[in-house]
Amino acid sequence: MLVLKFGGTSVGSIENMVNVKNIINNGQQKVVVLSAMSGTTNALVKVADYIKNNNPEDALIVIDVLRNTYNTTVKNLITTPEIYKTVFVYVNNTFNSLEVLVNRLYDDLLYNQIVSQGELLSTFIFSHYLQQENINAVLLPALDFMRIDKTNEPDNYYIQQNLNRVINESPKAEIYITQGFICRDVKGNVANLQRGGSDYTATIIGAVLKAKEVQIWTDIDGFHNNDPRFVENTTAISNLSFDESAELAYFGAKILHPQTVMPVRELDIPVRLKNTMLPEAHGTLITNQVHGEGIKAIAAKDGITAIKIKSARMLLAHGFLKKVFEVFERYETSIDMITTSEIAVSLTIDDTTHLEAIVEELDRFSVVEVDNYMSIVCLVGNAIIFHPDTPNLFQILQDVSVRMISYGGSNNNISLLINTSDKKETLKKLQRYVFESHSVLV
Ligand code: ADP
Ligand code: ASP
Ligand code: MG
Repeated sequence: MLVLKFGGTSVGSIENMVNVKNIINNGQQKVVVLSAMSGTTNALVKVADYIKNNNPEDALIVIDVLRNTYNTTVKNLITTPEIYKTVFVYVNNTFNSLEVLVNRLYDDLLYNQIVSQGELLSTFIFSHYLQQENINAVLLPALDFMRIDKTNEPDNYYIQQNLNRVINESPKAEIYITQGFICRDVKGNVANLQRGGSDYTATIIGAVLKAKEVQIWTDIDGFHNNDPRFVENTTAISNLSFDESAELAYFGAKILHPQTVMPVRELDIPVRLKNTMLPEAHGTLITNQVHGEGIKAIAAKDGITAIKIKSARMLLAHGFLKKVFEVFERYETSIDMITTSEIAVSLTIDDTTHLEAIVEELDRFSVVEVDNYMSIVCLVGNAIIFHPDTPNLFQILQDVSVRMISYGGSNNNISLLINTSDKKETLKKLQRYVFESHSVLV
C-alpha cells in the first residue's frame, strides 16, 4: 500500500486536479489524502474570526465569495449532468450550513467545525470527478477513523482498528480517498491536526497501514536548502534523514507539518516529497540514512519569545536551573533554545499562553527580561559542527544582531536567535555564506 498526500495547490485548480488524477491512476493500491483547495482554509479561518468578533455580515461576505468560486470550479470540472447535480447540491448545502453558523456563539468547537469544511469539500468534489472519469475510487470519511487522544496525540490503536474496519466495509478499490487535517477529539467532536496537518494525516495513515512509502505531493520540487519564499536560487535536496527533516520542519520549513515524520521514522517508512506540477523531478527522499556532511538546509521559525533570567545569586550556586525549569514544567511550556552565563540564563519559548504567570513566578527569585517578535534560524545537516565550511555562517554576526546562538547541543543543528525584522536579510546572507561559497556533498 502507498499513501499519497496532495496539498492545497495540487487540488486548487482544474488543471492540477487533472495532474493528480494522472498521478494516482496507475494501477497501484493507494490511500490518497487531500487537503482543502488552496485558499479555502484561510478563508474559513477568516469566517471563524469574523464570528468571534461579532461580525456576521463580513463572515457572510467571505462565505459568498467562496461559494461562487466553488460553483465555478465544479461547473467546469464536472460535466456529467447527474454527477454535477450531486456535487452542486453538496457544495451549496455546505455553504448554506456555514451561513447558519454565523449567528452561533463562538467557541473552539465552532471553529473546528467551520475549518473542517475545506477537506470535506475537496474530497467530495475530487472523488466525484474520478467517478466521472470512470476511475474506481472510494471515499473514506476521516471522521470515521482519525482520532486524537486527550493529549492531542494521534490515537494510533483506535485509528488502526477503525481505518481497517472502514476499508473492509467499503467496496474493494484501487484508490481510497480521504480527508487530511480533520479528525475527532477524545469526546468525538470534530477537531484537527493543526494548520498544515494533512501531511501528518498521511504519515499517521502510512504508519498504521505499514505502507511501503508515503508521498507528499506539493507545489515545489522537494525540500529546498532555504526558504524559497524569502530567498532566491534555493535548490532541492535529493536526500534527507528523518532527523534532519524533523528538525527543519519543527524550525519552520513550511513544506512539512512539524510532526510529519514522527509516525513513520521508527517504522522506517520512507517519505518522498514530489511536485504535482512536475512529477518527473526527483524530489526529496526522506529515510533513516544520512547522506553527506555539512550544512544542508536553513529554516526559520517566527513567533519566538526570548526570556532572560538574571540572578546575582546564581553565581556559584547550584539548583538555579532546576528552579527555572520547574516553572516552565508547571505551565507545560516547552523551551526551544537555551544559553547560560555565570549570572543569567536566556531561553526561548513559542507558546506564550502562560507567559504572564511564568514571568511572575520567575520574578520572585530573579530579574526577568522578555523580548517578543523573535525568530529562530536553524541550520541543519549531518555533523555540521565539525565541518570545515561551517565557520562561514558566522560572518552573519557582522550583518545582523544575533541575540543567542545554540551550537553543539547536537552535532547536526546550529540555531541563531534574531529579531524577526532581520529574518529575510539573515536567510539571504546565510544562503550566500553557506551555499554559494562552496558546494555541499549530498
Ligand atoms: P501544500 O499546500 O502542498 O501542503 P505548503 O504551502 O504547505 O504546500 O508547502 C509548500 C510550500 O512551502 C512551498 O511552496 C514553499 O513556498 C514553502 N517552503 C518553505 N520552506 C521550504 C523549503 N525549505 N523547501 C521547500 N518549500 C518550502
Ligand atoms: N487545509 C489545512 C490547512 O490549510 C491543512 C493542510 O493544508 O495541510 O492548514
Ligand atoms: Mg502544507
